[in-house]
Amino acid sequence: MDNSEIVDILELTGRLMELHDADAFRVRAYQTAAFNLDKTTEHLAQLSAADLIKLPGVGKMMAGKIREMVETGRLQDLDELLARTPEGVLEMFKIKGLGVKKIKTIWQELGIDNPRDLKIACENGQIARIKGFGEKMQEKILQSLEFMQSQSGKVRMDRAEALANVLRDELLTHFARVEISGQVRRQAQEVDTIQLLIETPDPVAAQRELSELSFLTQHEALSSPFAWRGEMQGSDVRIELLLYPKNQIDQRLFVYTATEPHLTQTGPTGQTLLQVALTQPAATEDEIYRRAGLPYIVPEMRENAHAFDWASRHTNDELVTWEDLRGILHNHSTWSDGKHTVEQMALHCRELGFQYFGIADHSQTASYAKGLDESRVRQQQEEIDRLNAQFGPSFRIFKGTESDILSDGSLDFEEETLASFDYVVASVHQNLTMSLEKATTRLLRAIENPYTTILGHPTGRLLLAREGYPIDHRAIIDACAEHQVVIEINASPYRLDIDWQWIDYAMEQGVMLSINPDAHEMAGLLDMRYGLAVGRKGGLTRKMTFNALSLREMNTYLRERKRKLSK
Ligand SMILES: [Zn+2]
Ligand SMILES: [Zn+2]
Repeated sequence: MDNSEIVDILELTGRLMELHDADAFRVRAYQTAAFNLDKTTEHLAQLSAADLIKLPGVGKMMAGKIREMVETGRLQDLDELLARTPEGVLEMFKIKGLGVKKIKTIWQELGIDNPRDLKIACENGQIARIKGFGEKMQEKILQSLEFMQSQSGKVRMDRAEALANVLRDELLTHFARVEISGQVRRQAQEVDTIQLLIETPDPVAAQRELSELSFLTQHEALSSPFAWRGEMQGSDVRIELLLYPKNQIDQRLFVYTATEPHLTQTGPTGQTLLQVALTQPAATEDEIYRRAGLPYIVPEMRENAHAFDWASRHTNDELVTWEDLRGILHNHSTWSDGKHTVEQMALHCRELGFQYFGIADHSQTASYAKGLDESRVRQQQEEIDRLNAQFGPSFRIFKGTESDILSDGSLDFEEETLASFDYVVASVHQNLTMSLEKATTRLLRAIENPYTTILGHPTGRLLLAREGYPIDHRAIIDACAEHQVVIEINASPYRLDIDWQWIDYAMEQGVMLSINPDAHEMAGLLDMRYGLAVGRKGGLTRKMTFNALSLREMNTYLRERKRKLSK
């Protein structure tokens, strides 16, 4: 059992206790333990009860509960609570903006115990009439429900990639060639179908073999003799396994990777890519583009026809690669809500081969994330000075902050403190319900602030969980161009914000983009690869990637900005 499983169980137990009116003291014990243990770097499963008690937020009772989970794989408290809770009420926990107290009221006062009935109650105005709810809350619940419905059966790209790899490796023990195609090969940020191509001379035998794999469940009605469709254990995303003989796999890989708008692109020969592919079954992807008279497009960009427009201005070798990345900006440490210290994070960054590490812990308004006030900022900067003295000239920690953009668009520190940072990432974290006009104005003010270096996760979206606030992307990007503000591609697979579809427009306006993992622990630094994938998908070039600047170039860039500010 790993830490996140333990924390999830504690959290759920705390919520269910609250739902069932358990003793407030015990509810708090669970909540406090979950909150604190989420940040620990210890391996909880390996600790004795005596060691567990030494951790913050863990009392004697809680240490016993954790040992119970580790030893038995269950928690009796939770089992009892689950037995008393309808399945649908548990599903209601997933609705954004609906806390335990509200769910309890809805359940007890209206007898509603599932999202479907809740939606009906919203639609006929019953929820607004409950004391303490109102029209606005009802509208918000309805929006969350509709969003949830539209997202079911989808997974984020990190999970999709992991599932596809496991599946491919397993299938390779049965078949000579297995290729990942479709959305996963295209590096889509949300995936509803994991598609693989299997080479087989005998589809009947192959189907028989697939039916013997215990981790796969087939949907017979959706399948055909050449296509196995169904699900994989532990996930409700759709799995599609397509069976082809050896001489058709390359052609099929091409056809299934690209979307229709891409395939129907016509070259100077008058033939579409699809027509060329179908008449040349043995052609490689390279040859298909060449014979159609079109430039080769990398798989991640085969999402639409815009890639050809991009290709009229760029070549593929301009696309940014992992090797081009020189440093990692926007990271958190134990100073705010991170799991590892600045030193641990920076050392790990250096081990991964990078030249610089940027700290961007939360600012004072973000009290829920232990945001730093001005005196703690000074202490942190002293620590960074000490560490930089140890690192010497070949590696450097840059002093940054992730400053909250307050409701009126101002940043969260006095000018003197803002001036003490090497760079400032400005992000919205609170009061996310805004009209397009309000959100755009708020961001524009932050962009106009001379201390803003990078605009962090511009829309605040959480993929599959929360739609971002609406913004006027063009106005925001144009303002970034005018004020020389870099835009973040937040590389966390939960965010991937700014969306890749705006990258080319930003580059055209001269705006640089920074691939930022927003890492809260050492392992999080590698999330950069998801940002890199969507960056390339949007045509991001090395030249326009902010963190592809070398240490020396970054030093010069930041120093130059500071010089202008002090004038
Ligand atoms: Zn943030
Ligand atoms: Zn952050």
